[in-house]
Amino acid sequence: MLSVFDIFKIGIGPSSSHTVGPMRAAEQFARGLERDGLLLRTAQVRVELYGSLGATGRGHATDLGVILGLYGETPDTVDPSAVKPQLASVQRSGQLPLLGIHPISFQRARDIVFLAEQSMPEHPNAMRFAATGSDGSILSDRCYFSVGGGFVMESGAAAAVADMAPGLRWPYPFRTGDDLLAQAKSNGMSIAELMMANECVWRSEEEVRAGLLHIWRVMQECVQRGFGIGDEDGEEHLPGALGIRRRAPKLYRELLERGHNVAGGDPLAAMDWVNAFAMAVNEQNAAGGRVVTAPTNGAAGIVPAVLHYHDKYTAGAPDDDVVDFLLTAGAIGLLYKANASISGAEVGCQGEVGVACSMAAGALAAVLGGTVPQIENAAEIGMEHNLGLTCDPVGGRVQIPCIERNAMGAVKAINAARMALRGDGHHYVSLDAVIKTMRQTGEDMKSKYKETSLGGLAVNVVEC
Ligand code: SF4
Repeated sequence: MLSVFDIFKIGIGPSSSHTVGPMRAAEQFARGLERDGLLLRTAQVRVELYGSLGATGRGHATDLGVILGLYGETPDTVDPSAVKPQLASVQRSGQLPLLGIHPISFQRARDIVFLAEQSMPEHPNAMRFAATGSDGSILSDRCYFSVGGGFVMESGAAAAVADMAPGLRWPYPFRTGDDLLAQAKSNGMSIAELMMANECVWRSEEEVRAGLLHIWRVMQECVQRGFGIGDEDGEEHLPGALGIRRRAPKLYRELLERGHNVAGGDPLAAMDWVNAFAMAVNEQNAAGGRVVTAPTNGAAGIVPAVLHYHDKYTAGAPDDDVVDFLLTAGAIGLLYKANASISGAEVGCQGEVGVACSMAAGALAAVLGGTVPQIENAAEIGMEHNLGLTCDPVGGRVQIPCIERNAMGAVKAINAARMALRGDGHHYVSLDAVIKTMRQTGEDMKSKYKETSLGGLAVNVVEC
């Protein structure tokens, strides 16, 4: 039982599984030391990063996420502009204040170890934290898994999920797309109404609405900053040896000159704007900026780009539409989380960009007045044509192909919604069938195509 606020989380770039998850794990580890009365006895912490984290952790800023987490920072509250000075201070002083209060000796190259060749059997994104005392004795030794979308599991423990009192149950439980269709039909409710009722086991309807509208504001701010608005001194190039120049600010300026309207102009101008919205978010993400994980950071541009499209090109996005859009998208995201995966390291990019595309397609169909079967159809189309999508980021960075891929995913989501809305909801491949296929395809995919940067574009594009 996960919440829409587990699918949409305010975080920091560039990666939900490789930056946000490790930051959470490190923070949990440090809090555990404090809880067990070990914090002040800790002299050193060693962190081992296995599998995909070991292979692409450097490019995905996993080590920086770990340092910030040990510092006591969390992805939703950390100030992105304060990150660089914080890290520079650790580097300069050779000391890391655990939870901001207890300094230990710390050297990034010595104390964070990338073990690309080694994997833990439980999950490809594994981390091991060991705290030692001044006499070298082990005080605490814990393993965590970053299972996608910023979710973290401790070895042997249940997934960290929404805090729900024991005994609470959703009034409209669902685990599959068929369950969702059946609940909607038998109760005469939309998917958004079902989700809202379920969310209300944790918080009031007003709080859910306020939380979702806040998520939308953060998405809008992310797009604005990605366009360079309010961030005029921002870096022109993205971090890393690729030296990639941001494209969204220039595209935004060019499109402004053309205007939003299609009348008398380019009939596909809307597509340019969708591309610009998506790339703005993903360039912010690549630069370590504030983003909404939706459902992952690598795929964070698709849902906001499609919601911006709805705002500018269809009926506008009044608050009710924003809430319905995000609730519907969240319900679809939960189906993937429950029945497949949203981790590129587990199932490839179909689990990131594919899932985001499916979520956005269903959500757009919903706010454009689609029936529940049409929404399910849109979500299904959104994934069907992303099946097999591999994860092969060049240089281990969430830049190529990720940034453009979000633009492609957003456009595909809009097309999927339009195709579904032209039908009557009847179709051959169910959403459940495509989710199952995505999971099986991911299981069969070679690990070199699953966020290791050992295959595909990552080995055919030279990083200079
Ligand atoms: S290729 Fe896809 S799954 Fe891989 S890092 Fe990029 S967005 Fe994430």
